[in-house]
Amino acid sequence: MPRISNVRLRFSLLYGTALVVTVALFSAGIYFFVQRMLIGQINSHLNKDLTTIASYLRHDPDGLQKLAKMGPVHHFRVRDGNRPLVISTEWEQSGLDLLLDGGNLAPNPRSVRTAEKRLYRIQSQLVPLGDHLYQVVVAHEESGYRRTLNTLALIILLILPVSIVLSLAVGYLIAGRVLAPITAITNKAKEISAENLAARLPVGDENNEFSQLALIFNQTFSRLEDSFERLRRFSSDASHELRTPLTAIRSIGETALQQQAVAPECRETIGSMLEETDRLVQTVESLLLLSRADSSALQKEPAEIGNLLADVVEFLSVLAEEKQQQILYERSTALTIPADPCMLRRAFLNLLDNAIKYSPEQSVIKVSLYRNADGATVAEVADSGPGIPNDDKERIFDRFYRLDNGRSREKGGTGLGLSIVKAAVEAHGGTVSLEDAPAGGSVFRAVFSFSDLPNTHS
Ligand code: ADP
Repeated sequence: MPRISNVRLRFSLLYGTALVVTVALFSAGIYFFVQRMLIGQINSHLNKDLTTIASYLRHDPDGLQKLAKMGPVHHFRVRDGNRPLVISTEWEQSGLDLLLDGGNLAPNPRSVRTAEKRLYRIQSQLVPLGDHLYQVVVAHEESGYRRTLNTLALIILLILPVSIVLSLAVGYLIAGRVLAPITAITNKAKEISAENLAARLPVGDENNEFSQLALIFNQTFSRLEDSFERLRRFSSDASHELRTPLTAIRSIGETALQQQAVAPECRETIGSMLEETDRLVQTVESLLLLSRADSSALQKEPAEIGNLLADVVEFLSVLAEEKQQQILYERSTALTIPADPCMLRRAFLNLLDNAIKYSPEQSVIKVSLYRNADGATVAEVADSGPGIPNDDKERIFDRFYRLDNGRSREKGGTGLGLSIVKAAVEAHGGTVSLEDAPAGGSVFRAVFSFSDLPNTHS
C-alpha cells in the first residue's frame, strides 16, 4: 500500500477506520443479540406448546381433536408410534407433514422450509404413556422474526456507509483543528531566514506539546540570531581593524615611490605592492559595506531610484567612453522609496561597472527603469558581454564567487560586487534576478514590488 504523506489525511483515515470498525462490531453485536433473542422467544413458544399437548395426552386425549381444529396450539402433529393420531388443520395446510414424513427430526429444534417457501421452526418430543410412545411435533412460523431481522440488517447496511462518510469528514475536521498550530508554526518558520532571524514562531496561550515545540524552536532561533549577529560584528570589526594598517601601508608605499633614491627594481616592487594593497583596501571596503547592509543599520531617506540610476550612468560614462561603449538609459517610470542612497547607488554602480567591464568594446549597454506586468518597478542593466553560464547563475550572487578567478582579478574584481548588489537591494525590500539577454549577454534586474512613498510624484 502506498504511504500517505499528508498527516491530516492519514489521521482522518485512521480515525475513520477506527470509528467504522467500532460501528461495524457494534452493529454485528446488535444483530446477533436480536437474532438470539427472537429465536429464544420462538423456542419458548414451542416448549409451551409441547407441554400443553403432553398435558392433553395425559389428562384429556379426546380434547386433542378440538385443539387440532380450534387452537390455541396451531401447528402440531401427534403420532402413536408410527401411526398418526392427531394432525392440526394448520399443520396439514402448511405442507409440513409431507416434509417431515421421514420421521428424522434432528437437530431438535430446527428450521425447515416448506414447498411453498415458508419457514417454520419445529420441535419434537417423545411422550411415553403406559405402553404407548407418542411422538409430538410442534411448529411455529418464522416469517415475523425473519422480517424483523431483515429490517434490522437493512438499517445497519444503510447506517454503515453514512457512518463511513461522516467519520471521515469528522476525522478530517478534527485533524485540521489538531494540526492548525503546526500549520501556523510551519508558515511562520518559512518566513524565517538568515535575514529575518528576529522573527519568532507563534507559541499560543495553551501549554501543550505544540507550544513546547514552538518554544524549543524559538530558543534555537535566538541562539542562531546571536551567532549571526556575532559573526556580522566580527567581519565588521575585522574590516575596521584592517582598514588603518592598510591605509598606513599605502601611504608608506606612496612616500617611498616619491623618493628619488629608490632603485627602479624597487619601484616596480613597491608599485605591485601598492596594487595589491589597493585590492585589499577595496575588499575591506566591500566587506564593510556588506556588513552595513546586513545589519539593517541603514540610514534611510526618501530617494528616487531613477535619479540614482541617472547619477550612476553619468558617473560611469567616462569608463564606457574609454571602451567606446554606448550606455542607453530609458526611464519610463519613477519610484521613490525610503533608501540609503549611498548603498543603493553602490548596488547600481556595481551592476553597470560589471556590464562595462565584461562587455566588448563598441557595444551597447542598456539601463532601464520600468514597471513590469505585475506592477513592480524594475531597474535593469542589460549588456552584450559573454553572459553567465547556467550552472553559475545560482551562485553568482554568493560572496567571493568568481567565474574566472584570474580574469576577474585582472579586471580589479574582488568577487564581492554582486553580493553587495543582492544585500543592498534586499535591504531595501527588493529582489535581484539574472537572465540571459536574447541577443547574448546578461540582464541583471533589481525588482521592487511596492508602490511609491506617499506624497511623491509617480
Ligand atoms: P567582481 O567584483 O569580481 O566582478 P562580482 O561579484 O561583481 O565580482 O561578479 C562575480 C563574477 O560574475 C565575476 O567574476 C564575473 O566573472 C561575473 N560577472 C559579473 N557581472 C558580469 C557580467 N555583466 N557579464 C559577465 N560576467 C559577469
